[in-house]
Amino acid sequence: MCCEQKSVKILLSQLEYEVNYIEWESDLFKYNFKNNTHYITHPAKDSVGLWYLYFLHEHIHAFHREKLSSPFSENPSTNHLPFGYDQEVYNYFNTVRDWFVVGSMIEYCIEETKFLIRYEYDDIVKKINPNMDVKDRLIAGLVSAQVQFFLKEPGKYKMDDLHIQKVAETLLGFHPNDISVENLYSIVSKLFKIFGYFEIYTDFDGAFQIKQLKEMQSMSPPPTDYKKIMKELM
Ligand SMILES: [Zn+2]
Repeated sequence: MCCEQKSVKILLSQLEYEVNYIEWESDLFKYNFKNNTHYITHPAKDSVGLWYLYFLHEHIHAFHREKLSSPFSENPSTNHLPFGYDQEVYNYFNTVRDWFVVGSMIEYCIEETKFLIRYEYDDIVKKINPNMDVKDRLIAGLVSAQVQFFLKEPGKYKMDDLHIQKVAETLLGFHPNDISVENLYSIVSKLFKIFGYFEIYTDFDGAFQIKQLKEMQSMSPPPTDYKKIMKELM
């Protein structure tokens, strides 16, 4: 049994709620929680490389869902945002959650997780281009932060794109084991500022709400006011 399989077994023994597995045609892995049940959607075992590592990743999402309060795994309300913007908002939250997931993953399977980080870096670095959308810049920034933090080679993996660098720097400002809802929202708020499309505010009841600041013309990155970003992130 490989480290990932053993770790999944340990995690399952610590979960209170049932885990339901759904195999699908896509090569992506997905996690969600509904009606007191964890749902892990996954591709067929032999269709994707590093399958067990991604499988472990999703179980850590389930573990964080149970150990932390629900805003950690549930996406915020986006009812008042225009149609189609919810997924855009979720991309920021997923980036931060994955920063924390890898922080936990490495505690279970250190060498395997480092291998995955290097693999993801080699993959994303080939795709860096000026027309990358926000989602891809968030993913690239996450990967850049992971290599700098976990492979202990600061600077070596800086990617040649200011948005990506700011995403990485923002994540690196928070230890990946310092998992809390406050940190989740605090990081997302900083990531929102990098791209300028959304903002987090608290309503009269003290609940976090998300406001759209400007329209997304296309999936291409927004025009950048670099000085403003630097100032806001200080
Ligand atoms: Zn994830």
